[in-house]
Amino acid sequence: MVTQEKATEKITEKNVEKNEATTATESVDFIRTVVNEDMRTGRYDGKVITRFPPEPNGYPHIGHAKSISLNFGLALEYGGRCHLRMDDTNPTTEDEEYVRALQDAVHWLGFDWGKHLYYASDYFPQLYAFAEQLILDGKAYVDSLNEEEIREYRGTVTEPGRESPYRNRSVEENLDLFRRMRAGEFADGAHVLRGKGDMASPNMKMRDPLFYRIRHAHHYRTGDEWCIYPMYDFAHPLSDAIEGVTHSICTLEFENNREIYNWLADNLLEEPRPHQYEFARLNLDYTIMSKRKLLQLVQENHVNGWDDPRLSTIAGLRRRGVTPEAIRAFCDKIGVSKANSRVDIALLDHCIRDDLNTKAPRVMAVLRPLKVVITNYPAGQTEALEASFWPRDVPKEGSRPVPFARELYIEQDDFMENPPKGFHRLVPGGEVRLRYAYIITCDDVIKDAAGNVVELRCSYAPESRGGAAVDGRKVKGTIHWVSAAHAVPVEVRLYDRLFTTSNPEEVEEGKRFQDYISTHSLEVLSHSLVEPSVASANLGDRLQFERQGYFVVDSVDSKPGALVFNRIVELRDSWAKVAQVENEPAVASSVREPKASASKTTVQKSPPEAAPDSNTGNRKSRTELRDEVRAQQPELAARLTRYTTELGLPFEDADVLTGDLDLARFFEDALAVHANAKSVANWVLNEVLREAKENAITSLRFGGAQLGQLVALIDDRTISSTAAKEVFAELMAQGGDPQAIVVARGLQQVSDAAQLLPLIDSVIAANAEKAAQYRAGKTGLLGFFVGQAMRQAGGKANPQLLQTLVQQQLA
Ligand code: ATP
Ligand code: MG
Repeated sequence: MVTQEKATEKITEKNVEKNEATTATESVDFIRTVVNEDMRTGRYDGKVITRFPPEPNGYPHIGHAKSISLNFGLALEYGGRCHLRMDDTNPTTEDEEYVRALQDAVHWLGFDWGKHLYYASDYFPQLYAFAEQLILDGKAYVDSLNEEEIREYRGTVTEPGRESPYRNRSVEENLDLFRRMRAGEFADGAHVLRGKGDMASPNMKMRDPLFYRIRHAHHYRTGDEWCIYPMYDFAHPLSDAIEGVTHSICTLEFENNREIYNWLADNLLEEPRPHQYEFARLNLDYTIMSKRKLLQLVQENHVNGWDDPRLSTIAGLRRRGVTPEAIRAFCDKIGVSKANSRVDIALLDHCIRDDLNTKAPRVMAVLRPLKVVITNYPAGQTEALEASFWPRDVPKEGSRPVPFARELYIEQDDFMENPPKGFHRLVPGGEVRLRYAYIITCDDVIKDAAGNVVELRCSYAPESRGGAAVDGRKVKGTIHWVSAAHAVPVEVRLYDRLFTTSNPEEVEEGKRFQDYISTHSLEVLSHSLVEPSVASANLGDRLQFERQGYFVVDSVDSKPGALVFNRIVELRDSWAKVAQVENEPAVASSVREPKASASKTTVQKSPPEAAPDSNTGNRKSRTELRDEVRAQQPELAARLTRYTTELGLPFEDADVLTGDLDLARFFEDALAVHANAKSVANWVLNEVLREAKENAITSLRFGGAQLGQLVALIDDRTISSTAAKEVFAELMAQGGDPQAIVVARGLQQVSDAAQLLPLIDSVIAANAEKAAQYRAGKTGLLGFFVGQAMRQAGGKANPQLLQTLVQQQLA
C-alpha cells in the first residue's frame, strides 16, 4: 500500500491537471454547471436522468421544443437518458390525441426516449401509498373546508394564513376519511388531502399544500378506477422519484413549488433523490405559448387546426416547412438562463434560413404574374437555358434546363411605371437582365380600359445569353421569370404574423388576446406559376423561389397536378442586420433600395425593422426596445456583435447585456478582472440582475470588478458555489472585497488532503456496514459517503478532491 503522503501528492497533482482542463473549457450554462458539479461529487454515481413531462392537454409548441432540447440534449451529452412522461393527473382536459401529438413532436425533433415512455397515471397506486405514508407520519391531513374557505384561510402575501380547524384530526380519522375519499363516498370538493406545511410561511405554496382532491371524472387511461386525483405538486416530485430522475428541470414559474418538492423528498425519499432546477421559459415575439390559448385559437376557428402554419405549435411549424434542425439550432442559440426575456422572432427566421440555405434548391416562380412578350423572339421557338440549383456559396452541384420562349411572365412588382430613385428593375424604356437568360428592354406598356398594366412588350439582346456581358450596357437589375407556355400553375400561401402586437400574452385592460389577431396573417395567391422542373416536387419538398423566399409543398392540401406551396420564410434577414449595424450607420439602411426580394405585401406591412412605429399601438418587445437603444448607441450595437461572436455568448444573454450601457460596462469591468465571459455573464444575468430588480446597476454597493473577483474565486475553486452565494449576499448588503469576505468568513475550500483524510476515515468508520456494501459492489453509495464527508467538512471541502479521496479510502 502506498503511504498516505505519496498518495496525497499524486492525487493533488492529478487534481490540478483536471482543474485546469475544466476551467479552460468551462463555458456552460447554469444547468450544466449543476450537472458537472453532481458528476464531480458523484451525487448520482455519474448518472444523468432527465425527463420531459408534458400534460397531454394540447399540442406542444416551440416553448416545449426548448424544454425537449434541453432535457434530451443533456441526457445525450452526459450519456444518460431522458424519459417522456405524460403528466396526466388531471382527468378533465387530457386526451389520447395530445399524447400522440407530443410523441410525434419529440420524434420529429430528432429525440428518442427509447423504452422510457411513462404515464403519471400509471403511478396512481404508488402515489396513493405515498399519501397514506404521510398521513401515518402525521405529515398530512384531510381538510373539510370548502374551496373558498381554503383560499380565505390561506392568508395573503402580506398576512399569514390560519390553520384549518380540521388540521389536528387524528391519524386514524385522517386515514379513514382518505380511504373513504378513495372509495367514492364523498362528493367533489367535500374533502381534500393537504400537507402539514406552515400556514405562516412567506412562501404561499407552503401553506398546507393540497395533495389530493375528489373528482368524479373519467380519466382517458384509468377510466373510472379513481375518483381522487393527485395535484401536480404532489404527483410531480414523486413521479420523478419513482423513475429515478436525477435532474428535474422545469420553468421559472415553478420556483416556489420547489419548496414543496423538497418537503416531500425530505419526508418520503432518501438521497440520492431528484432535485428541481428552474430555467426561463421561452417567450417568442408575436406568438402565443400557452396550450390553453392555442386551444382557443383552434376551437374558435381563428386558425385552421393545430397544424395551421401560422401557429407556434410544432405541428404548425412542421407543416410550414420548418426543419427540426432549424428548431434545434434556435434552441441552442437562445441558450438556457434564469433571466426571463422575450426572443425576437427574427432570430428564429434566421435559424430557419441558415438551415435551408444548404438544403433547398433554387428555382424560379412568379407569384403575381405580369405578361411579357419578347417581340423579336420567334414565335413557336423554345430554347433550354441551363440554370444551377445552387448558388456559388453552397458547395453542391446540380442544374436543370429552364425553357425560354417568346411569351413569359415576370413578377408584377418587378415593373414600375413611375419608379422611385434607385429602382433597378424594369421601367418603361429601361433594361433588366432575366436570370440565366437575356437582357431585355421594355419598349411598350399595354394597359386595360381601367388603366392597369396588363402586358409589356420587350425586345431581347441575343448576344447577352446566359449572363454574357454586352458592350456599352450596364444593367443593374436581374429578375426572375417563367415561360408562359411551360409554367405550371400552383397555389401559394404567404404567411405573416398571427398577432399585431409583439406580446399577445400581455393585453390592455378590457381586451382579450384574440383582439390582437391580425387580419392579414394569410394571403392566398391562386394564380402563381412555377417553372416546369417544380411540377415533380413531392409533398414536403422545400425549395427556394429565387428572390422570394423558401417554400414547402404543403403536405395536406396539395393534390397531384395542383400543388400548394407554403412560404416558410422570406429571404430578407433582418437578423443579420443586427450584426451589421456596427459597420453600417442606421441611416444608411433606411435609404437603401428595398431588397429585390421585398414583395408588395411585405412593403405594405412594414415589418418593425423597416418602420418600427408604423403600427401605432403595437407595443414593442424588450428586444425591440433594446434594438432601439442600440440603434442610437452604436457602441452598444458593436458590443452585441462582439459578445455573440468573439465572446461566444448566446444571443439572449448578449441582447440583455447590451440593452443598457451601464450594464454592459458593469459586465466588461467584471470581464477585465476575470476573462471567462460565460461565467461572468451567467452571474450578471442570473444573480446580479435578479437581485438588483428594478434598481439601476450603478446603485449597487459593488461594481463589475468585485463581481469579476467573485467569479474568479469560484472558477479557480477557491470557494464552492454555495459559499459564493454567501459572499454575493454580503456584497449586495454592504459591498466590500470578495477575497476579504471569503477570508473573514472562512469560506475557502479545503484542498488539503491531510486535513480531509481524517474526516473521511471517521465517516467510513461510523458507517462500516455501508462501507462493506460499497466494497461488495454497491458503488452507488459513493455519493452517500461524499455527502457525509462534505457535511463533516462543513461544506468546505474541494468536491473533486474529496470524491477522489473518498474513493481511495473506500477501495
Ligand atoms: P402551457 O402553458 O403551454 O400549457 P405548460 O408548462 O403547462 O405549458 P406542460 O405540458 O405542463 O405545459 O409543459 C411540459 C414541459 O415543458 C414543462 O417542463 C414546462 O416547463 C416546459 N415548457 C412549457 N412551456 C415552455 C416554454 N415556453 N419554454 C420552455 N419550456 C416550456
Ligand atoms: Mg400547464
